[in-house]
Amino acid sequence: MLNKLRALLAASSLIAGSVAHAQTQPPIASMPNTTTPSLAGCPSATIDKLFNDFGRTGKMPPELKRWMNDTQSQAIEPYQAFDNVYNVGICWVSAWLIKTSDGPVLIDTLYEPYTDQLIDNIKKVGVNPADIKMVLLTHGHFDHVGGVSKLKALTNAKFVMTEEGWREAQADAQKSQGKPGAWTMPAAADIIVKDGDVLTVGDTKFYAYATPGHTWGTTSYAMDVKDGNKIYRAITIGGLGLNAIDGAEQVEAYIASVDRIKTMVNASRNPISVHLTAHPFSTGLTEAKELLKTRRPGQPHPLLDPNGLNKQLDGLRAGAIERLAIEQARTNKPTQ
Ligand SMILES: [Zn+2]
Repeated sequence: MLNKLRALLAASSLIAGSVAHAQTQPPIASMPNTTTPSLAGCPSATIDKLFNDFGRTGKMPPELKRWMNDTQSQAIEPYQAFDNVYNVGICWVSAWLIKTSDGPVLIDTLYEPYTDQLIDNIKKVGVNPADIKMVLLTHGHFDHVGGVSKLKALTNAKFVMTEEGWREAQADAQKSQGKPGAWTMPAAADIIVKDGDVLTVGDTKFYAYATPGHTWGTTSYAMDVKDGNKIYRAITIGGLGLNAIDGAEQVEAYIASVDRIKTMVNASRNPISVHLTAHPFSTGLTEAKELLKTRRPGQPHPLLDPNGLNKQLDGLRAGAIERLAIEQARTNKPTQ
């Protein structure tokens, strides 16, 4: 049953893999609304399909927009995913908190007004936001870095990003000015990270991989997660969608990044077997996390799913191959 559910979710996210991500325009967060009942509880497959429709048509389905902007629907209880990992995000965007022996590390910051929910969630899992040591940023879209300025005022954390990623974030923030949901980015990152860099905080190492494709500056982060006496290598893939593509070259970079991550998933040494996804609906995390509540001793960890990760990567690749043909046809079209 679970496998069927997973297969269904995986198949769905494969199709939507090319689009399952934010639009570049910040949504209007204050819109009064009632969420469509079908989206109550954030069912992954339904939401994935709506993002897929959005990507295919370029038109945001109204119920998706309402749901994304409904702070009540987006609120989720933070939860412990592994001994050292907490999910502190909202329904459609993740933020992950990793506890280390020298203080917590946060991956991504959400955006206003959800950064307030993030801060509450961090407190709920017993962490004072002021104690955060490091904030790892995946890429420059508002839904991942819109909360940087607010968090920076609350903590002494080092904010980490690639040079290109920070530039993209600043450009996106600049574009948002004068529009609903306008946001700002500080002048510079505290730590400019490069491909292959290893950031050590206390007993935990964070491996940064430049994985251009979703945006040119997209970075993925890998780290070890603990489950009792077992340790697994996990990754947050920095961006999944092909919704911010500017030509065939970027799609080629995307495919190379997917292939590279797949190699890491299937490596004989330290293979990656857990995806701490940036968007819960993309892996069926919303449903899988429920299994944590009823898990009995000795049962496998519900987020340990190398096969699911392989399938997701295969689907992302297939979507990118299709998109590559479209982009190449566009480039090769003779000018009149
Ligand atoms: Zn994005």
